[in-house]
Amino acid sequence: CGIIGIIGKNEVAPLLIEGLRRLEYRGYDSAGVATLVNGRIDRRRAEGKLVNLDRRVQEQPLSGTIGIGHTRWATHGGPTETNAHPHATRKVAVVHNGIIENYQDLKAELEGHDHLFETETDTEVIVHLVTYYLDRGLGPVEATAEALKRLEGAFSLALIFAGEHDLMIGARRGTPLAVGYGNGNGEMYLASDAFALAPLTNRLTYLEDGDWVVLNQGNVVVRNATGEQVERPIKLSAVSG
Ligand code: GLU
Repeated sequence: CGIIGIIGKNEVAPLLIEGLRRLEYRGYDSAGVATLVNGRIDRRRAEGKLVNLDRRVQEQPLSGTIGIGHTRWATHGGPTETNAHPHATRKVAVVHNGIIENYQDLKAELEGHDHLFETETDTEVIVHLVTYYLDRGLGPVEATAEALKRLEGAFSLALIFAGEHDLMIGARRGTPLAVGYGNGNGEMYLASDAFALAPLTNRLTYLEDGDWVVLNQGNVVVRNATGEQVERPIKLSAVSG
């Protein structure tokens, strides 16, 4: 339902949760955040309201300068902590809005390659599919590109990768996603909604349908559905913090 991603300079968990708070108005049944801690994916998730996630993070703090967060409105799989996003393998974590229509076929195929699934969601196939390509030697960008070719449905995504402190990938197919630019500090953001980023930046690029984007600190490369690099304008958001 709501997506936020930050490649930051400082601790991102509090900023991610603040961004999720600004997405609460859209409605949700559970929430979660994932960061990289010494290169490894770590996450905290909770059923229900953000206070529950907040409490979880107070009890077990989550460090890291890159991360993704999500408020979920369940479509596939009940609103439990296990089904809450981010979903992750050892190699990649994702937050996802929308629906992967062909997840049952993909899940069956990946289970045939010894992938073990933990949740009832459509979303979990995304991380297993990307991991499948990473395991075959592709880099994170190429593995994601291959995975995107196989996904059907209307969705937006943000992904981070173990060992990659300066890399985030976003994709937009049918549901909104915007890139945000830090104010001169090299920080980069992704969000499903300009309002989530209002305290951080008002400089945004709204992705077009089929676009996917590779973010590093201070750098953005947008490609369209056919893989061509494209320029998308930076706009000043009128939404205020
Ligand atoms: N289909 C996904 C799920 O049920 C994402 C739902 C959403 O947009 O929050 O987990």
